[in-house]
Amino acid sequence: MFKRVLIANRGEIALRIIRACQELGIETVCVYSQADRHAPYLRLADRAICIGPGPARESYLNISRIISAAEIADVDAIHPGYGFLAERAEFSEICRECKIEFIGPSPEAMGRLGDKVEAKRFARAAKVPTFPGSDGAIESEEEAVEVAESIGYPVILKAAAGGGGRGMRVCHNEATLRANIKKAQQEALAAFGNGDVFIEKFLESARHVEVQVLGDKHGNAVHLWERDCSMQRRHQKIIEEAPGPGIDRRKIERVCEAAARLVKSAEYSGAATVEFLMDSKQNFYMLEVNTRVQVEHPVTEMITGIDVVKMSILVATGEPIPFKQKDVITRGHAIECRINAEDPSRNFMPSAGRIETWEVPGGPGVRIDSHVVPGYFVPPNYDSMIGKLIVHADSRAEAIERASRALREFRVGPIQTTIDLHHRLMQDSAFRTGGIDIHYLERLLK
Ligand code: ADP
Repeated sequence: MFKRVLIANRGEIALRIIRACQELGIETVCVYSQADRHAPYLRLADRAICIGPGPARESYLNISRIISAAEIADVDAIHPGYGFLAERAEFSEICRECKIEFIGPSPEAMGRLGDKVEAKRFARAAKVPTFPGSDGAIESEEEAVEVAESIGYPVILKAAAGGGGRGMRVCHNEATLRANIKKAQQEALAAFGNGDVFIEKFLESARHVEVQVLGDKHGNAVHLWERDCSMQRRHQKIIEEAPGPGIDRRKIERVCEAAARLVKSAEYSGAATVEFLMDSKQNFYMLEVNTRVQVEHPVTEMITGIDVVKMSILVATGEPIPFKQKDVITRGHAIECRINAEDPSRNFMPSAGRIETWEVPGGPGVRIDSHVVPGYFVPPNYDSMIGKLIVHADSRAEAIERASRALREFRVGPIQTTIDLHHRLMQDSAFRTGGIDIHYLERLLK
């Protein structure tokens, strides 16, 4: 086991990793920016090192400062969490050069699955269902038009290196496709440093279903079943749950097995999420692979009893996954509500500032993953998520009632949050029947 791990992140995920390390008997070193200098979770780490000013570029995204902190603190490994440097192959590579274990995939495996075009190639070989579309990056306008004609409009142009919902263009006919290709390539180059653009069938209505997978350094990969994350706004997930409501279990089992095969074929170690869109006939199409621990990992933990963060650390030490696929047994239903410091009545404007009231729910089946305490100041520099409420119950209906009850207990002020919105969504009849698609929330908010 590692003796000491540096956490290259902040907020709730930094605290989540501290907790996992402490239970594994690992010392923690937490880096922080000046904007986070009063963050209470820093006191729970064995050591905290300031790496620069508030703007992420000068701190949490600054590789040389993080590596310096790691060397000063003499750590064995770095956990990147999610966001910031978690999906930068260059960072994983530099860690390796510095003989510090990166808790996540090797730069090679990250390259295989982190690039959307490459991932699709591996996915096809592993018999993971993918969208019909171009085999790789588009070489010419004519090729794009040919592909679009063979799969039928609408189609979507996507950047191979895209992320965060950026770098995508939907085209409903040949004229818009022709008009958009060059622009999409130029935009991709400017935004992601890679001008590769590919084309796939665009699904008008779909659910977002993703599969949690773990890989180790011995060629094993095990899936921890699926999560449904269809409640989204601007491609940002708001509610996640597991299992996916109403999904044919035989079908999803095949998709989960394929996702594990994909991770195995890429010789990938660590936590990975294979994301899919599912159409109304429950056909699955792979979107992309996220090569890190995700925000919504707790719902999987609640139904499987497996600690995803601890597993990510364990496999990084070189240990094999300590269980087999047949040992992964799910129980009940879990729902996560992301609590964001935003004002839903003002177009989700960020609501930074001091939190005076912070009364969190408790009781059976309730979990809060948050770094906030009363008096905490939400810095304006980062993502607006200030915590997650996760509930677990025997059935989905009971989980919804439990979430409603917990949301009523949750009191936060004077900043604005998404708590009331979640409460409303728990009463929403379309959500309750499990029949929403990824555009549902935006339609509801109109
Ligand atoms: P990113 O890496 O930017 O998040 P994704 O490939 O995961 O990009 O796609 C983000 C979102 O864009 C999806 O959740 C979905 O809402 C939409 N999208 C992407 N591809 C398609 C598609 N082929 N059909 C319909 N919607 C799509």
